[in-house]
Amino acid sequence: MPLLGDRESRLLIDGKLVAGSGGTFATVNPATEEVLGVAADATPDDMDQAIGAARRAFDETDWSTNVELRVRGIRQLQQAMRDHAEELRELTISEVGAPRMLTSAAQLEGPISDLSFCADTAESYQWRTDLGIASPMGMKTRRTIAREAIGVVGAITPWNFPHQINLAKLGPALAAGNTIVLKPAPDTPWAAAVLGELIVEHTDIPAGVVNIVTSSDHGVGALLSRDPRVDMVSFTGSTNTGRAVMADGAATLKKVFLELGGKSAFLVLDDADLGGACSMAAFTASMHAGQGCAITTRLVVPRAKYDEAVEAAAGTMAGLKPGDPTNPGTICGPVISALQRDRIQGYLDSAIAEGGRFACGGGSPADRDKGFFIEPTVIAGLDNDAKVAREEIFGPVLTVIAHDGDDDAVRIANDSPYGLSGTVFSGDDARAQGIADRLRVGTVNVNGGVWYSADMPFGGYKQSGIGREMGLAGFEEYLETKAIATLA
Ligand code: NAD
Repeated sequence: MPLLGDRESRLLIDGKLVAGSGGTFATVNPATEEVLGVAADATPDDMDQAIGAARRAFDETDWSTNVELRVRGIRQLQQAMRDHAEELRELTISEVGAPRMLTSAAQLEGPISDLSFCADTAESYQWRTDLGIASPMGMKTRRTIAREAIGVVGAITPWNFPHQINLAKLGPALAAGNTIVLKPAPDTPWAAAVLGELIVEHTDIPAGVVNIVTSSDHGVGALLSRDPRVDMVSFTGSTNTGRAVMADGAATLKKVFLELGGKSAFLVLDDADLGGACSMAAFTASMHAGQGCAITTRLVVPRAKYDEAVEAAAGTMAGLKPGDPTNPGTICGPVISALQRDRIQGYLDSAIAEGGRFACGGGSPADRDKGFFIEPTVIAGLDNDAKVAREEIFGPVLTVIAHDGDDDAVRIANDSPYGLSGTVFSGDDARAQGIADRLRVGTVNVNGGVWYSADMPFGGYKQSGIGREMGLAGFEEYLETKAIATLA
């Protein structure tokens, strides 16, 4: 059956695809402003039922202990996504505004393929460890460490890489034996809702194990953070919302796992290929219109080469005009909404007000009368105290900042409330590695290395988050530890 045949998605609650009690809300193509169709609009009552279903499935079925069933369910979901890959690709391009070329990587095929890591990990994981016999306090005791599922996981996700983020929560949470309620962003409800259709039609995942609740109301997601039946909230989104989730979770002291914003630095040392490094920084900042949390949006270059660096970055960015995401050559598509476009424009205006200048770009392209587009923009003439250097813009905007040597470059990179990612370019790998070791961030690219993969943990220091997604660390976030002592 084709996905979303009637252009209306449903909620998945307790194994059934159902309408939302709040009616429906529209999902919009950000490149054309066309309404693609509608999604079920959940109310607090719907969320209450979804949480109840997840709780029952955890407490009353063998899901949490049946590794074979979990592995089978994850592999079936992966196969169903592969079988529907072309439909999912078109949906991702039209709903997310994701450039087609990114759907063969992190926007679709990458996360589908990464589900193998979750299934393989569940299969090979050592769920119990025998620590042997000891005599603490004179009592001869056999000690065992058991790792087991936390319980009900509430997953709250943003719109920028919806498949990647939905699956990076769903995959490990299910592999570890939890049940889940997924609440996606209102801007991309279909990317999550299709998972519901595929789970119901193509997998043996039991009723209640996965629940998917789309809603136009952010407050419906907040119920997950507050509800005592939810054991853990796994959240990806902005730092401000992350604070609200953490505060809401405090009342029931649930585990709160946070993947938040970033303002990452791309450091170019004085012995690096300046032109090559600055072009790469410009390319990275333009990809998917800069809507990536780990994108390096501060280009930190040697002061003596500042003008040359600005010119190199602007030369590359000026060639990356925002374009139609259906076109295989497009790198910079639209931003998600008019709200985001206007927010980005506000940051661009602030750069000029603070004395900066645009080396290229600076606003919406004149040749597009539909869609939410912003030209890739290089901002020059500001230092690390400027608003555009401190706050996350989430648009195709690169701010070029001068440094006075390696120590100063490290100081600037770390002078940020965020600590998600970073890049170091140098002609000398050991020197670059030494700088990488001094950055207070969760992932570092050294001379072009790629840190994104299923077995690599991803996450932030400081206000970029708490915990790690993906890799073994990302799987173990969804586990409790139990120490069992048996008199020997
Ligand atoms: P957002 O914080 O506005 O929303 C994220 C999700 O939280 C949405 O599903 C939203 O409905 C929900 N939400 C909003 N208010 C809530 C509340 N009070 N309680 C519970 N849920 C609530 O973020 P966004 O605009 O959708 O996404 C962009 C942000 O996400 C950026 O800051 C970006 O850096 C961040 N992000 C981080 C990562 C990462 O892994 N670190 C990855 C992607 C995006």
